[in-house]
Amino acid sequence: MDGAAKNVVHGLGDTIEGMVVTTVALPVTSTRNHGIGAVGGDIHNVLVKLETDGLTAWGEASPWAAFTGTAEAAAGALDVHLRPLIVGRRISETAQIMVEADAVLVGHPEAKAALEMALYDLIGKAANLSVSELLGGRVRDELPLSVSIANPDFDADLELAERIVDDGVRLFKIKTGVAGHTFDLMRLETLKKRFPEVEIRIDYNQGLTPIEAMKFVPDIDTFEPGFIEQPVRAQNWEAMKNIRAAIRAPLVADESIFTPADALRAAKEGIADAFSIKIMKSGGIRKCQEIASIAAAAGIAGYGGDMFETGLAHLAGVHLVATAPNISLGCEFYQATYYLETDLLETPFPVSNGKITVPVTPGLGINIDEDKVRHFAIDQQN
Ligand SMILES: [Mg+2]
Repeated sequence: MDGAAKNVVHGLGDTIEGMVVTTVALPVTSTRNHGIGAVGGDIHNVLVKLETDGLTAWGEASPWAAFTGTAEAAAGALDVHLRPLIVGRRISETAQIMVEADAVLVGHPEAKAALEMALYDLIGKAANLSVSELLGGRVRDELPLSVSIANPDFDADLELAERIVDDGVRLFKIKTGVAGHTFDLMRLETLKKRFPEVEIRIDYNQGLTPIEAMKFVPDIDTFEPGFIEQPVRAQNWEAMKNIRAAIRAPLVADESIFTPADALRAAKEGIADAFSIKIMKSGGIRKCQEIASIAAAAGIAGYGGDMFETGLAHLAGVHLVATAPNISLGCEFYQATYYLETDLLETPFPVSNGKITVPVTPGLGINIDEDKVRHFAIDQQN
């Protein structure tokens, strides 16, 4: 069977011969305040490179210590615990490999997302299909891009806002719950007045207590934001339900939902109108598809969320969102274009006129620039 598969479909039965795990430190352009935590200076992400005899594929883990985990844990998970599942296996075993990854390693969703992403990139390149084609085909070819307003220096964010509106971006997400309710209201009012053509959304990243949320969120709601995301801590499900009942804007759950089981419970309990669906939270595209399906069955929308990613992890998210009908609220894959000083892709992440064009070339669609990986590498395991 192996030989036949090899002859019929180029490379699909081929063996994975090598796995390289590289941690990179990537400088960013500004500080971002996001509810429970801030990010600045540089971000540490972990890249996985898989090689067969003739094909190379890439995945990325983009952990955030305050949210999903750490780069150190992701690198260790990949190098020590997941490597034995990979080297010597056929790339057509991807689904089984990911079942085994869940069996040998609890948690570590970013490491699993990176591994699955690289495997899908490899299958796509072997089968001459883009990842969205592997997933069954696209329901959309362009994704509306949201950019986050999260700089503690609001004047700097206003300059960014001018630039991105000129670029065609029509979705902003203001990160709130960090520097006080007055600051949040001022930014919302200013941006609404200055950019009436833009839909403005709000994300608290768990920044409020339930008591604060019942006071502050209805004020925010009077400005008719596109949605309000995760005002309270992940586990404050009762508060999410109460807030949802008190406002008109759709309420989005992000940190409350990591797994398909979380999504099922959230759908049953009615804590949100939409879920932020993120490969890094859930451990890969397939788990996100399960979450999107649960949401779809419950009449809940999805939003293409992300972490502090390069264009590589963005691409995996793009293929997911392109193929999931109910992930209909756009996406926030903006870091490669508007936050990193240098992205790692060979050609720019495909944003134009405020939209991402889904790549149609095999695999994830754009390769990593290995010179840039070498330049930003701080650790590597072969
Ligand atoms: Mg969020």
